[in-house]
Amino acid sequence: VYNFSAGPAVLPVPVLEQARDEMLCLPGVGASILEISHRSAAFTAIIEAAEANIRKLLGVPDDYAVLFLQGGGRLQFWMTAANLIGELGAFKGKSADYLLTGSWGKQAMAEAKKVAPVRVAYDSSGSNYDRLPAPFCAGEPAMDLDPDAAYVHYTCNETIQGVQFPSEPDTGGVPLVCDASSDFMHKKLDVTKYGLIYACAQKNAGPAGVTIVIVNKALVADASPNLPIYCNYNTHIAEKSLNNTAPTFSIYIVKLVTEWLLREFGDLDAVYKQNQMKAKLLYDVMDAAPDFYIGHARRECRSLMNVAFRLPSDELTDAFLSGAKKRGLSDLKGHRSVGGARASIYNAMPVAGVECLRDYMLEFKNQQG
Ligand code: PLP
Repeated sequence: VYNFSAGPAVLPVPVLEQARDEMLCLPGVGASILEISHRSAAFTAIIEAAEANIRKLLGVPDDYAVLFLQGGGRLQFWMTAANLIGELGAFKGKSADYLLTGSWGKQAMAEAKKVAPVRVAYDSSGSNYDRLPAPFCAGEPAMDLDPDAAYVHYTCNETIQGVQFPSEPDTGGVPLVCDASSDFMHKKLDVTKYGLIYACAQKNAGPAGVTIVIVNKALVADASPNLPIYCNYNTHIAEKSLNNTAPTFSIYIVKLVTEWLLREFGDLDAVYKQNQMKAKLLYDVMDAAPDFYIGHARRECRSLMNVAFRLPSDELTDAFLSGAKKRGLSDLKGHRSVGGARASIYNAMPVAGVECLRDYMLEFKNQQG
């Protein structure tokens, strides 16, 4: 079965095989990854290797910490605001700007609002989040940015609507806080353009249970020590993500996934090339039959990771989805807020899987005349 789930999502087969082979006994350790202490030498080597691989793949500079946290993307919605603009935040008294380009950005802002004032700097909810501000989408308003904001929050890939920023928005020097949950490590980034990047792992980086945060240490340095200890980035920076019992198995899988990326592709430029190629296979089918496979996102901002489209009727959508399932193409149903179908094609989805879906889309269209 090729699983097109939005997350938890496919993992590379060699990673699953290695995890299976090492499940009873980690080489040189004599115990399972599920049994060893998070403070053991064996686990220290694993978390350090996972961090080193992420640093290498993304070129993370030394003044940024790489953290492995729990609580998912959703805790980050609140934690970013609490550390930066809340009563106990490093920039107490300032507000933050939010770009609402999909359902996740909206939820991130709702959580931040519980902490401190925030502003909407762009909102595409009126068109059910199918576009980005100018200059990314022609004819759209530009972002309405507050030059005095503590940060600008955006979601670089909106998983539900399949809307992706092709590059970072220009904030005129205001730090960028980015929810990269659904396209983390799909291409190389200039990390220095960001104040903080967070990504739950269960889409592109590993299994559920760990969230990766890359943070400029200076940005959060002045957050108050009175923040709850787990919710203070400085705790995790000082204790190298081992303040409490870390999600050891999830971090181990992130290590294997990042090793696989380095081994299989060498660098994220090669990963990006493959992601562009895979997405093009599906978008070419949609572009050739735009009244049959109706894309949700505008062309300038459609996602390389989540391809969201509708068919002309609910009956056709149902027939498309059930035919796909019979072919072993699973989890293609779109999110209820968008409807239709959504193919999530993260790094670990093999080209062959996307080709199978492409062939099925062509065939289904031909069958329907
Ligand atoms: N942000 C984005 C872009 C997501 O796609 C998701 C989950 O699907 C989340 C945040 C929420 O992550 P979690 O379920 O780990 O809290």
